[in-house]
Amino acid sequence: MDYTVIIGLEVHVQLQTKTKLFCGCSTKFNPDHPNTQTCPVCLGLPGALPVLNREAFHLGMKTGLAINCEIPSFTKWDRKQYYYPDLPKAYQISQFDLPMSQNGWLEIELDPETREKKKVGIIRAHLEEDAGKNSHDESGRGQDSKVDLNRCGTPLIEIVSEPDLRSAQEARTYLEELKLLLTYIDVSDCNMQEGSLRCDANVNLHVHKADGETVPTPIVEIKNLNSFRGVEQAIEYEVQRQWKDWQAKGLSLKDVPKETRGWDADRGVTLEQRGKEDAADYRYFPDPDLAPVTVTDAERERVSKELCERPADRRARFEKSYQLSVYDAAVIIDQGPTLADYFETVAESCGNGKQAANWVTQDVLRELKEREYEISEFPIKSEVLAALLQKVDANEITTKSARTVFQELLSDSEGNRGVEQIQSIIDEKGLALVSDTGQLESIVQAVVDRNAKAVADFQSGKQAAVGALIGQVMREIKGADPKTVRELLVEKMS
Ligand code: ZN
Ligand code: MN
Repeated sequence: MDYTVIIGLEVHVQLQTKTKLFCGCSTKFNPDHPNTQTCPVCLGLPGALPVLNREAFHLGMKTGLAINCEIPSFTKWDRKQYYYPDLPKAYQISQFDLPMSQNGWLEIELDPETREKKKVGIIRAHLEEDAGKNSHDESGRGQDSKVDLNRCGTPLIEIVSEPDLRSAQEARTYLEELKLLLTYIDVSDCNMQEGSLRCDANVNLHVHKADGETVPTPIVEIKNLNSFRGVEQAIEYEVQRQWKDWQAKGLSLKDVPKETRGWDADRGVTLEQRGKEDAADYRYFPDPDLAPVTVTDAERERVSKELCERPADRRARFEKSYQLSVYDAAVIIDQGPTLADYFETVAESCGNGKQAANWVTQDVLRELKEREYEISEFPIKSEVLAALLQKVDANEITTKSARTVFQELLSDSEGNRGVEQIQSIIDEKGLALVSDTGQLESIVQAVVDRNAKAVADFQSGKQAAVGALIGQVMREIKGADPKTVRELLVEKMS
């Protein structure tokens, strides 16, 4: 007897608007000044009337189109009723039966070796407002719980996947790809520490019994996972727990209604929270204060034109157009669109994609990390790096010398980092490769003449003897290409 793991994810993403979904309050993350970004609308005071934020709807459409959803011509707002201190209206404005986007998919790569891909279905993506934040005293000193309503009314898009995911690893991959896509299309900062991207996971097992029957175990919703690691670990834990539970009690989906559990990251366990509400418990009904929204073909068309190349497509293109390895292409794409643009300019203008990728994934990323720069503020602009790499390609300097120039450019105290600086540094440091073979040959000859012992060693079969002589030649002509020097030495001594 064995089982199949069935997982669906509900992802809440904060859309990056300046103001809230139905009022003009700021959406800035501001936990140090609680309850300063509120008004009668988001506080739910009697008589206050919500007005839809056009930009939030626009970003919602962009998201829906990016995940291949249909955008229906008609969508409306519903009230989802529940009582909680962080929800002063005692209902959340959300979308129930007519969401603003539905029936989409997102493709993920299951295995970088085999390149096996999978389309994960997306049931719907709807807009809704966020609640505030409760904080409880956990010191045990009995202090009061606090409520901060700054986040109340912040626009969210909730993206609900089909139960198509089959392992914790797959769920993580889906979430990573989704986050990357939302970052590229510029609808959210996806900052998980600040709660801009939160995930609930619905998990159960389909147990395959010896008699051929398949029995689903109760579906458990794990709430509020806010890290990739958390999602993966919580699902792994939950799969084991459900399997043990099945073996001990044999309860199926028919016996137990849905259950909600919370992930305790410190203890590495999921804990029972409450019985899962059904839609009926929320008593959804259309919000009478908000007009439904109609979307025209022209609007749909206009928004889809705004979409940039999706990260998956760009990754594939990088592999193909610049002959990048799967790994290099992924490293560059994962850093976000600004670094991908930087790489692409370097690759295009130096004409050597592979070399550009080596420099961007190693030298540039290392410096960004060490100096804590964003790529947008990196002192060596893409056209300057391209010019430097062109010199390597044209055999004007060695890769090693190019690294010296790179460091000199970075540390220039006066900030002189134009293309013309490259040649000045090469001249100053004598890094130019000597192309005058006459000059090089005479130095090689002189070194051979004064090293009779090394020559004899070489002639008696000691290949290593060449190494010491290369060093001597290089000391006299700094810019010599070591490979050419070796060839000349071997030629003279043979
Ligand atoms: Zn407000
Ligand atoms: Mn929701």
